[in-house]
Amino acid sequence: MAKAVELAETALASDETPVGAVFVLVSKEGSRSVVAGAMNDTNRSLCGTRHAEFVGIEEILRTFPASVFTKIDLYVTVEPCVMCASALRQLHIHAVYFGCANDRFGGCGTVFAINTDPAADPPFPAYPGYYREEAIMLLRRFYLQENEKAPVPKLKKNRLLKKDFLPLDLTKYVQDHELVQLQQLYGDDLRKMFSSSPGLSHLHAGSKRTLDGNAVD
Ligand SMILES: [Zn+2]
Repeated sequence: MAKAVELAETALASDETPVGAVFVLVSKEGSRSVVAGAMNDTNRSLCGTRHAEFVGIEEILRTFPASVFTKIDLYVTVEPCVMCASALRQLHIHAVYFGCANDRFGGCGTVFAINTDPAADPPFPAYPGYYREEAIMLLRRFYLQENEKAPVPKLKKNRLLKKDFLPLDLTKYVQDHELVQLQQLYGDDLRKMFSSSPGLSHLHAGSKRTLDGNAVD
């Protein structure tokens, strides 16, 4: 995800919406290799569908058959929109890890849950919160940058860079058993990833279950 954040930084520097995406191929033996890294390209290309995910998907399909996506995890700084979530599902992506929620167009739990709703293609898990604050700050810097370029100056309150973060409600995105799987994957890092999440606070507090899935009542 650090690499995806770097790509989003590059996007910001090129006046693109700062979204970065890194696709990682996981081999049978568990080794991981990056097969594509992409950023949003809608402004330069003047094409509204050139989201980071689509750019990355195209790059992969130049080299691999579509069946490769069953072995690919996507790390993307912002929750995939409805369009991208649908494409990822049709390609049978293995899993998606994203930074911050996409409040207007999110297709992995915020607006719609395209990743898990009843459909012919297999559902895919989408885990939020990884490098969330970095992803949010990149978007805020982008909107500030855009405001500064506006011909009519915006109100002063729109010109300040906010640095506070509302908590993330994890329960919109993942179920308890998935949190347990994540704990196995990330160990203690998971606590850091979701430290501001009320969805996990009951697990932290140990009311019903701990992160490792043990009952503690
Ligand atoms: Zn998208």
